[in-house]
Amino acid sequence: MTHTPFTHKQILPGATIGVLGGGQLGRMFAMAARRMGYRVHTFSPESDTPTGQISDLEITAAYDDHAALLAFADAVDVVSIEFENIPATTLDFINERVPVRPASGVLHTTQHRLREKSFLQAAGFPVVPHERVSSIEELRDALHKLGAPCVLKTAGWGYDGKGQRVIRDAVELNKETESAFTALGGECVLEKFIDFERELSVVAARALSGEFAHYGVVENSHRQHILDYTLAPADVEESVARRAIEIARSVLEQLDVVGVLCVEFFLAKSGELFVNELAPRPHNSGHWTIDASVTSQFEQQLRAVCGLPLGSTEMLRPAAMVNLLGDLWQGGEPDWAACCRASNVKLHLYGKQTARPGRKMGHLTALAATAPEALRLARAARDNLIGKTT
Ligand code: AMP
Repeated sequence: MTHTPFTHKQILPGATIGVLGGGQLGRMFAMAARRMGYRVHTFSPESDTPTGQISDLEITAAYDDHAALLAFADAVDVVSIEFENIPATTLDFINERVPVRPASGVLHTTQHRLREKSFLQAAGFPVVPHERVSSIEELRDALHKLGAPCVLKTAGWGYDGKGQRVIRDAVELNKETESAFTALGGECVLEKFIDFERELSVVAARALSGEFAHYGVVENSHRQHILDYTLAPADVEESVARRAIEIARSVLEQLDVVGVLCVEFFLAKSGELFVNELAPRPHNSGHWTIDASVTSQFEQQLRAVCGLPLGSTEMLRPAAMVNLLGDLWQGGEPDWAACCRASNVKLHLYGKQTARPGRKMGHLTALAATAPEALRLARAARDNLIGKTT
C-alpha cells in the first residue's frame, strides 16, 4: 500500500467538501462541516437523503455515472465517504481529479470480510477463527473444523446483521440452512460464535500528518445484530483498554487511514480480545461524541480529510447513546415532547421519511455522572417516546 505524503495543502473553511453516500453519517458530518463554514455537496443514488437535506447541493446519480461523477468532482475540493460500500472504482475515478480520503485501498480492504480478515491476520491482529466457504461442501467442512455454534456471513456488502445467520449445531445444517446459504449467495465466511463477555469498540482518527487520536474504549450492546446502546466509557480493566487502543492505532497506521475508523471488538470471557470488524468512517458507537466530547467524531473526520490538525478527544462527561429504530413508529409518531422533558438527554433525528422496523431513524444521547446512569436516563427517555413506563 502506498503511503500518504506528509506535505499537503490544507483545505480551509469556505472550501467545498464532497460526500459520497446520503445517510445519517453523512448528515452529521455535513452538520459539522457547515458549522465550520464549509460548503457540502453530496452524491448518492437517492434524493432528499439525510445528508442531502443538510447539503448545499444534492446530486442524485448512480455510483457508475461518470458524467455525474466528473461534475461532482470538479465542484469540490476534497471527497469523503459516509459508508464503506461505495464501489472502490468510483473512488479511483474521482481521485484522478480531487483527493479522496480515506483512500480507495482502505475501502477495498474493509468492504469485504475476507479481505479484511486476511489483512488483520497478516498484520498479527487477533481475529475470530473463521473459514472461507463458497459451496455447501465447504460449509460442512468448515462447520466440522470450527465446531458449532458458528455465524455464517456474506463476504461482501453486509451491514447491521444483514446477510448473517447463526448455525447452532450440525443438525441445523439441513435443507433450510442450505437454502439460506444459497440465498446469501456466493462467497461467505463461517465464523466461530464467540461467547463474549462484552462488545467493545474504539473510534479513532488519523490526520494526513500521521497524528493519531482516539475516543477511548466504549461498550456496545446489540439487539438482533443492530447496535442498541453504547456506554462511554466502557467499564473494562486498564490492560484491556490499553490493548484495544494499541490495536486501533496500529490498524489505522497500517491501512494508512486518513480520517476516522472504528475497530469493533469481542471481549471473550477468557479475557481474550478479538477484532470483529473495521468501519473506515465515523461509527454509530461514536455518536455520543457530538454531545460529550470536545471534538465530535464528525468534526474529527472533517479535520482529517481537510489536512488540519486533529481536535481534542477529551470526554466532557460520561455518556450513553441509544438508537431510535423504526420499530418505535409502529404505534404512530413517537411523543417527542415527552422525550424532551429529560433535560440531560439530547435528541438526534435523521430526517428519514419512512420508518421501517430495524431502520436507524435517530438516536438519543444522555449525559450523567456515570455511563450506567446515563444509560438509565437515555432508556427512560426512549420509553417515554412510546408511553412505556419504566
Ligand atoms: P457484524 O455485522 O459482524 O458486526 O455483526 C453484528 C453483531 O452480530 C455483532 O456486533 C455481534 O453482536 C453479533 N455477532 C457477529 N459475529 C459474531 C460471532 N462470531 N460471535 C458472536 N456474535 C457475533
